[in-house]
Amino acid sequence: PDPMLRPEARPEDSDRALRPETLDAFIGQAEARANLRVFLQSARQRGEAMDHALFHGPPGLGKTTLAQIVARELGVNFRMTSGPVLAKAGDLAAILTNLEKRDVLFIDEIHRLSPVVEEILYPAMEDFELDLVIGEGPAARTVRIELQPFTLVGATTRLGLLTTPLRDRFGIPVRLQFYTVPELEEIVARGSRLLGIPADPEGIREIARRARGTPRIAGRLLRRVVDFALVEGDGRITRKVADHALTRMEVDAVGLDGADRRYLRLIAENYGGGPVGIETLSAALSESRDALEEVIEPYLLQQGLIQRTPRGRMLAQKAWRHLGLAAPRPAGQ
Ligand code: ADP
Repeated sequence: PDPMLRPEARPEDSDRALRPETLDAFIGQAEARANLRVFLQSARQRGEAMDHALFHGPPGLGKTTLAQIVARELGVNFRMTSGPVLAKAGDLAAILTNLEKRDVLFIDEIHRLSPVVEEILYPAMEDFELDLVIGEGPAARTVRIELQPFTLVGATTRLGLLTTPLRDRFGIPVRLQFYTVPELEEIVARGSRLLGIPADPEGIREIARRARGTPRIAGRLLRRVVDFALVEGDGRITRKVADHALTRMEVDAVGLDGADRRYLRLIAENYGGGPVGIETLSAALSESRDALEEVIEPYLLQQGLIQRTPRGRMLAQKAWRHLGLAAPRPAGQ
C-alpha cells in the first residue's frame, strides 16, 4: 500500500501554505471551535493563561493546527515537543523554565510521556511550579522553581492510554471528529485557490469524497491531482483528472486505500466476516496493533464498514457490498 495515503504526518507535509492560521479560517469541527472561541476570549479578557486543553482524535484531523491557532489567537509564543522526545525530566524542565507568561506549550503524542516526565508535569500544570531534585544520595535536596503561567495543549490519538491523573489535569478536553464531505470540499477548494490551480466543483467533490474524512489526506490528494492536471491535463482540476489520479494512486471510490481493503478482505476471506481478534488481525496483516487501532479502524468504524464486538471485529453488510462479495447467511436461516 502507498504510504503516501496514510494519515500520519510525513516530512513533505510541511505545507505551511495550506495550514489555516486563525480560528475563522479553520474549517469544520464546529462544536470544538465554538467552545474554544469562548475559552480564548475569556482568557484574553482576564489577561490570564488559557486552561490546559487536550485534543484527541485520529491523525491528520488538525490537532497541531488548532494548537498553533490557540497560541496565535492568544498572541503568545508556541512551543512544540512530543511525548517520545522528552526522555528525561530535565528535558521538560528546560522547556518549562523557558516559557514566557501565557505561552502555549504543545506536547504531541502525550500518551507516550515517560512516568518520570509525567511526574514533573503535574505540579507544573496545577500550580505552575517545578520540583527539581539537585544532587544525589544523602545530599540530594528538592528545590522549587516558580514557572510563568502557561497553557499546555496535549494531543493524542489514544485517549485510553492516558493515565487518569494526567487526563484529569486538562480543563478543556476536545474531541476531533472525521470531517464531512462538504467540509472537505471547502478545505480542498481553499487549497486549490492557495495553490493557484483552477478547479471545477465536481473535481473538488471527487477529492473530498475520497479523502478518508481527513484534511491531511485531502491536502496530499490535492497535490497529486494537481500534478496530473498539469502534466496530463490542461492545468485544471476536473472530475475526470481527479478520478484518474486517485485511481492511479489506488484510492477507491469511497476513499479506502490498499491497507484498508487488505484489512476488510482478510476478515471476509479468511474469517468468514468475523468476529476475529485484533491480535490475530495484527499478525496476519503484519501491522502493529497500534496502527490498526489508531489509523485504520477509526475510519472503517465511522463509515459503518466494521463493528467492534466483545469477541472481536466483524464486517458489516456495507463492507461485503463494498468488496463485491456476498455475506454469508447468519446461522439458523
Ligand atoms: P494532527 O495534528 O491532528 O495530526 P495537523 O494539525 O497536523 O493534524 O493537520 C494535518 C494537515 O491538515 C495540516 O497540513 C493542516 O494544514 C490540514 N488541516 C487540518 N485541519 C484543517 C482544517 N480544519 N482546515 C484546513 N486544513 C486543515
